[in-house]
Amino acid sequence: MIPISKPAFTQSEINAVTKVMQSGHIAQGEKVKELEEKFARYCGTKYAVAFNSGTAAIHSALYALGIKPGDEVITTPFTFVASANPILMLQARPVFADISEDDFNINPDEVRKKITARTKVIIPVDLYGLIYDVEKIGDIAKRNHIKILEDACQSIGASYKKGRSGSFGDVAAFSLYATKNITCGEGGMITTNNSHIAEKCRMFRHHGQSETKRYEYFDLGYNYRMTDLAAAIAIEQLKRIEKIKRIRRRNANLLLIGLKNIRGLILPVIKTNKEHAFHQFTIRITDSFASSREGFLNYLHEKHIGYGIYYPKPLHLFSLYAKLGYKKGDFPVAEKLSEEVVSLPVHPELRIKDIDYIIDTIQKYAKT
Ligand SMILES: *Cc1c(COP(=O)(O)O)cnc(C)c1O
Repeated sequence: MIPISKPAFTQSEINAVTKVMQSGHIAQGEKVKELEEKFARYCGTKYAVAFNSGTAAIHSALYALGIKPGDEVITTPFTFVASANPILMLQARPVFADISEDDFNINPDEVRKKITARTKVIIPVDLYGLIYDVEKIGDIAKRNHIKILEDACQSIGASYKKGRSGSFGDVAAFSLYATKNITCGEGGMITTNNSHIAEKCRMFRHHGQSETKRYEYFDLGYNYRMTDLAAAIAIEQLKRIEKIKRIRRRNANLLLIGLKNIRGLILPVIKTNKEHAFHQFTIRITDSFASSREGFLNYLHEKHIGYGIYYPKPLHLFSLYAKLGYKKGDFPVAEKLSEEVVSLPVHPELRIKDIDYIIDTIQKYAKT
């Protein structure tokens, strides 16, 4: 079986984590601090704050932006549920805006329609590793005095013009979960240039304590801390990010060439000025393809090619969100694409011959 994702570890991760174990200090400490400094430098921001998950990072970032019960936060319904759940955690209201058909990301024209006096934050998601429309969303936010929290959980290393993902909004959140482009099993990070946001995030992950004054609780907080064990792994991963990125892009380019001109199969778009991180290589199976998506997936399974459906159902159709008043038909683009998407393996542990096999296998199917 060719898996849809596989973490790319070397001996250096094993050595680094062993050293932390032998040091006797395994909880949040020097390694977390080192990771934060290196992460901020890589993204091109002043600060980075580490968490034990991307979800914790998003929750903390929204808290730091001052989200209160009843505030409205605009995001896409075509994303992992962790982009939106933290809005509910703060008793705020998730307001969805439909996506653009070509790049799967939140559509600025739809965002504009959803703004009210209560809108406080927009959460654009860099879906599959492609950065959102930075210019247009940035312009909307500025005009309406709204903050931007970038969900960069899938896009580490992606770029737009000269900037890297996580450096365009007021604050950004990353995930270091097992399937992400770099990983330490579970982990998260926020990046920001705002010292106030960074400090709020540090307190929120540590029961509302300031890092210089323990056992004094300034506000409600959680235990969202990362361990030095995890940070040691993430530091080694971050050292190899450029290489990991290069191999993902090479794999994606081979797939783009090998799968072009297949009837009814739509390939990912390449945008000018944007470097895709190819967290996922996602194709669309449309009506004019050789079979239904279901038939195609059965075939991939038979041929031992792993795949993923990200995401089979947009968030507004789950009862948790539908009960806010959403229904089928509200976001037609997200609803349509959720029935068409298939993500193929693109991770750096693939060999060229795996990619050739994927291409050949799909071409044969499309011709029958
Ligand atoms: C992975 C992911 C998250 C959350 O990450 P965890 O580390 O699993 O909590 C949030 N948003 C998106 C788009 C993701 O892909």
